[in-house]
Amino acid sequence: VHYQAQVDQFGEMIGAEALLRWQHPTRGLLVPQEFVSMAEKKGLIATLDRMALSSACEQLKLWNTNPETALLTCSVNINARHFSQTDFVARTREVIDRSGIHPERLVLEITETAMLESLNDASRKMHALKACGVRFSLDDFGVGYSSFTYLRALPLDELKIDMSFVRSVISCHKDAAIARSIIELGMRLGISIVAEGIENEEQREFLAGLGCTAFQGYVVGEPVAADELLQSLNIFQEYPDKLS
Ligand code: C2E
Ligand code: MG
Ligand code: MG
Repeated sequence: VHYQAQVDQFGEMIGAEALLRWQHPTRGLLVPQEFVSMAEKKGLIATLDRMALSSACEQLKLWNTNPETALLTCSVNINARHFSQTDFVARTREVIDRSGIHPERLVLEITETAMLESLNDASRKMHALKACGVRFSLDDFGVGYSSFTYLRALPLDELKIDMSFVRSVISCHKDAAIARSIIELGMRLGISIVAEGIENEEQREFLAGLGCTAFQGYVVGEPVAADELLQSLNIFQEYPDKLS
């Protein structure tokens, strides 16, 4: 499991997203695109998600031992098929309880496909986990149905603006308008907005100007092994002018 930093508007690290990697014996390091659909077909996706969750919990436990990292959050992606399983809540709680972390530091990222089967079921599961403190994020917001019904019905703490809007936020006035609207919507609903896939300073500054307060992308740091992530904590102290 690799981790990608998320920073606030001052460039301070506020958390990280856990991203699966497969160290393949001959093909090298594989990204999820190369194995997630196969894992879905073989019925292994829940196992993979739980591996990422356990690993994220281990990191949270470690971070909790140092005042400098104790407040960091860790986000974990939950596959829609995994989410739809009847024992999703119980088994997720099992991993969280066993780890002994503060559940408020854990963010579960779901996508809109997780709600397609039954919004009621999704809402019930999310409320059940929220009752023990876990937070929820709606990933890839803007590219699915982006239904306001989801925003109304679900206990969401965060929306992640899909990187397809971020990519051309400077060059395309439509994407800029969409990003602006998502950020305003988040502000009015009291939901934090994370812009993901930020690749340059221009995009970050522009989105910060619209009121976005959380950023993730190559300009901040690529997904790296857990120990490398903590070394990168100092990155922005060397370039304070870049992110002020
Ligand atoms: P995602 O959750 O939307 O994750 C963001 C993806 O964008 C990651 O790809 C990340 O490496 C990539 N990314 C981050 N910053 C930038 C940037 O500045 N530019 C560009 N072009 N890309 C950037 P990755 O790691 O290949 O993961 C792809 C997808 O695979 C994830 O999208 C997520 O949906 C899924 N995934 C990853 N780990 C897990 C997991 O543990 N469980 C499940 N169910 N899905 C996972
Ligand atoms: Mg994600
Ligand atoms: Mg995403």
